[in-house]
Amino acid sequence: MLDLLIIGAGPAGLMAAYEAKKAGLAYLVVEKGFIANTIYNYPVGLTVFSTTNELEFEAGDLKPAREKPTREELLSYYVRFALNNDLNIQTEETVLSIEESEPHVFAVKSDRAEYLAKNVLLAIGAMDHPRKLNVPGEDLPKVSGHFRETYPWVRKRALIVGGGNSAGEAALFLAQEGAETTLAIFRADWENNDPKQGCIKYWVKEPLEEELNQHCLKLFFLGKVIEIRDDSVILESETGERVTIGNDVVFVLIGSDADLAMLKALGVHTERGKYGEVPIYSEETFETNVAGIYVAGHFTNQRHIKGAIDAAKALIPKLAAALSAETL
Ligand SMILES: Cc1cc2nc3c(=O)[nH]c(=O)nc-3n(C[C@H](O)[C@H](O)[C@H](O)COP(=O)(O)OP(=O)(O)OC[C@H]3O[C@@H](n4cnc5c(N)ncnc54)[C@H](O)[C@@H]3O)c2cc1C
Repeated sequence: MLDLLIIGAGPAGLMAAYEAKKAGLAYLVVEKGFIANTIYNYPVGLTVFSTTNELEFEAGDLKPAREKPTREELLSYYVRFALNNDLNIQTEETVLSIEESEPHVFAVKSDRAEYLAKNVLLAIGAMDHPRKLNVPGEDLPKVSGHFRETYPWVRKRALIVGGGNSAGEAALFLAQEGAETTLAIFRADWENNDPKQGCIKYWVKEPLEEELNQHCLKLFFLGKVIEIRDDSVILESETGERVTIGNDVVFVLIGSDADLAMLKALGVHTERGKYGEVPIYSEETFETNVAGIYVAGHFTNQRHIKGAIDAAKALIPKLAAALSAETL
């Protein structure tokens, strides 16, 4: 019987594992991808927007070559942290269900094994379901909900649909490296400069404007996407005009949602948060209405890495104290 099973080895899960180890808990992390899988999936060569103090587990540990780390530096930092601290993580194993047989006894089934745990921390992030446009042709192989790489698209006609920083970055990378790039964006998103509202960050927007000035990027103020075809896309502009543009690849970067199915099956209550549906939990203990089920990170009210790390740092000592009080 584990004291704690942690689902997900992102920043929240890694911090929780470290704290659990320090507290002497019998713990295990089960991760369906690789260590820090969400960071692994960032675009190759991306410089992240956070500063080191918002990304590191211990102050002063992350030492990028420039002010902010690249995907590769951050990924290496998280992987080294797991290895150097010998954290108990099983990768490429997906948790499929959690069942409570009695209070504080959870049967956790993965695609490889079954575990019993007194407590479960879901640190599953919010990348499971990329949002869709729900238009004809979206299932064509050239359409992707995830931008990874520029170079296959050099000299090809690329369309990016989206209004946040990920869409802006993809458009910039593609335009800079010689793809014939169109960014289809709502005017309100393009004109939004409020960093608190998840807009395109200014250090992405400025070079995007430069690409526009140099005619390496086209901006399309979107009403809606009508249809995606093999070699074209039909778009409706904000004024209702329909245009067909030639196209080789489409990136639909309009956000993604967590998979809350396991939590809901356990009876965990949810509510509508600022960015979508979130579990209801105590901001102090991070426990949900089901005793022994904890949540931390990107699919809660914390959208950024600092919040994910801080949540895990705060919750494990409390959980450890509760466990040791039980055994006295
Ligand atoms: C391109 C991009 C750039 C970003 N830049 C920044 C930035 O500069 N600063 C910042 O603060 N944030 C940034 N973010 C957001 C940041 O990545 C998240 O806030 C962060 O990853 C949250 O950490 P987490 O541990 O909560 O979740 P995640 O890192 O998403 O980790 C969750 C883990 O759970 C695993 N998992 C999910 N379901 C299961 C299951 N059923 N079984 C087993 N494992 C499972 C996943 O594979 C994943 O590894 C960026 C996001 C993107 C996409």
